[in-house]
Amino acid sequence: MARLNTSVPAPAIVVLGAGALTTARRVQALYPGAAVHGLQARVTGADHAFGELGAHLRELYVRGTPIVALCAAGIVIRSLASMLDNKGAEPPVLAIAEDGSAVVPLLGGLRGVNVMARQIAAMLDIAPAITTSGELRFGTCILSPPPGYALASLEQGKRFVSDLLAGESTRIEGDAPWLARADLPYSATAQRAIRITPQAWDGQTHELLIHPRSVVAAVDGSRDDIVERVNEALCAQRLAPQSLAVLLADAAWAGAPALEQAAAALNVPLRFVRVASVGERRDPGHSGDTAEVDARDEVDSKSRDSHRLHQLLDAALCEPHRRSGDGCEGARRHDAGSGSGSGSDADADADADAGRTELGVLLAVADRPLDAAAIGRARGRLTVIGLGPGSAALMVPAARDALDGAQDVLGYETYVRMAGPFRPEQRLHCSDNREELQRARHAFELASEGRSVVVVSSGDPGVFAMAAAVLEALDQSGEPAWASVELQILPGVSAAMATAAQAGAPLGHDFCMISLSDNLKPWHVIETRLRHAAEADLVMAFYNPISRARPWQLDTALDIVRTFRLPETPVVLGRDIGRPGASLTVTSLAELRSTQVDMRTMIIIGSSTTRRFVCDDQREWVYTPRWYR
Ligand code: SAH
Repeated sequence: MARLNTSVPAPAIVVLGAGALTTARRVQALYPGAAVHGLQARVTGADHAFGELGAHLRELYVRGTPIVALCAAGIVIRSLASMLDNKGAEPPVLAIAEDGSAVVPLLGGLRGVNVMARQIAAMLDIAPAITTSGELRFGTCILSPPPGYALASLEQGKRFVSDLLAGESTRIEGDAPWLARADLPYSATAQRAIRITPQAWDGQTHELLIHPRSVVAAVDGSRDDIVERVNEALCAQRLAPQSLAVLLADAAWAGAPALEQAAAALNVPLRFVRVASVGERRDPGHSGDTAEVDARDEVDSKSRDSHRLHQLLDAALCEPHRRSGDGCEGARRHDAGSGSGSGSDADADADADAGRTELGVLLAVADRPLDAAAIGRARGRLTVIGLGPGSAALMVPAARDALDGAQDVLGYETYVRMAGPFRPEQRLHCSDNREELQRARHAFELASEGRSVVVVSSGDPGVFAMAAAVLEALDQSGEPAWASVELQILPGVSAAMATAAQAGAPLGHDFCMISLSDNLKPWHVIETRLRHAAEADLVMAFYNPISRARPWQLDTALDIVRTFRLPETPVVLGRDIGRPGASLTVTSLAELRSTQVDMRTMIIIGSSTTRRFVCDDQREWVYTPRWYR
């Protein structure tokens, strides 16, 4: 019950020149999960590359990522100026001199920017440029409590700090270990008080209220209006909504949209536990509480509901902590509608509770902030991503985010390596390229345990890659636990697109993608498709064109195409596009030889309208016009 919630995202450490990399790496060592972002044109060896500083800073800011920029403060200020409209929501933003001689907290006073500035300054052995008056005077930002605590009201807080700055003193009521280090004008008899409590504000005007996120709400997933019912339950116990740490439900309800929406609206994580005796999931529309049931049945059903909620809390709170020797005695329970706590007795008489569970909510209040990640488990997540052709700049940002948030990463070893760098706690599961279905099943098994799993493909995951294998595995399995996994497929830049862009626009008109591999389909099907595509005058992008095990197929394919297309038809060969040693060749159908091609090559064969031209005696372009005669 005692671990603190550490949900502040890791910072992005942004560098503009190679000279700043040493300082950047030292800052990175302070923050697990932090990545160094380097300006592509000037920095090699960063974890992520970006093209334009202003746009990149704005994107990080909008996503709420803390920013540590190793450049002039003015550059950061000008880049973010247009976005500074919501003080409460802004992430910490700091500027550090490239040589590590100065650290300036710029934004995010309520999200711990000064704490970061002090940490970084201590590591660099310099003084942080703290300018916040309350912070300077008291040595801490009272309005920015550590993770696991929430300020009740910013307005109330600002008034309180002004009063202290004006000479008032304060008491501290409740457990606020971080304030022990603060240099507050403390007095045991002060009229003003900083009160740490999960209870809602009771109208005292001279108090600064800070809520520990210490309340778990176990909810009945079969019922509607979860937000209203949880709020009503909190209100009935005079608990502040900000004290809510986690929403808990039976694992049979993982994936239910009403629960997801409720957790999002309440702004708390949603966690699940599987309770042996409540395995059966009831359809929300057929809960059994119909008008036909007599009064006795109704009491039975309510007592069952209450018992279920107690079991949920037992499984989530008591068991893991009993095992770790960290008892859950601190958690008081409140059956919603009861008006008083039902005590911490896990074996509470369900019949006695039955009449008091109308809201289908059971609250437990711990004596300290709760670490939601240690309660039950999350709804598992499986994200299938495409890395793009190779370079980090051609990976979509959502795929990068998925990798950053992954606990497990699965894929063909080459691609998993391309997807790095990884943090030590991220588990990598590399397998052979031919074991796609097995890999997909493994991914579902991990995700259905509540883990956050990413499966990587090169290019686009839906183009001759893992997305179809993952869906096939799901389609074939009747596993309810797999169906409740949050499955998402994120697109990527496919090899045909990446190669086409290098050459110009050969896919500018109708085209098709064909894999020449006959590993998963008979060769006669490939021949038929080639004939039809060639006859239809489609531009063709050939994937998997040749391999040691398939030496003759490409020449046969080209013979078919040559019977329909002129010898001078432009052909583009892209090899290792977006990767080190990339090469691009423009040739013609007559000149093309299978010896120019290997399994890392993309072949694009033009249509009757595809053209090539040399611009300014230098650069050759290939394009297929958008018109057709
Ligand atoms: N999902 C991938 C394709 C996988 S099939 C995508 O969307 O790109 C593998 C084939 O893709 C290779 O045999 C090759 O023909 C092509 N390919 C993949 N990456 C490539 C790259 N960087 N450059 C050129 N061709 C590539």
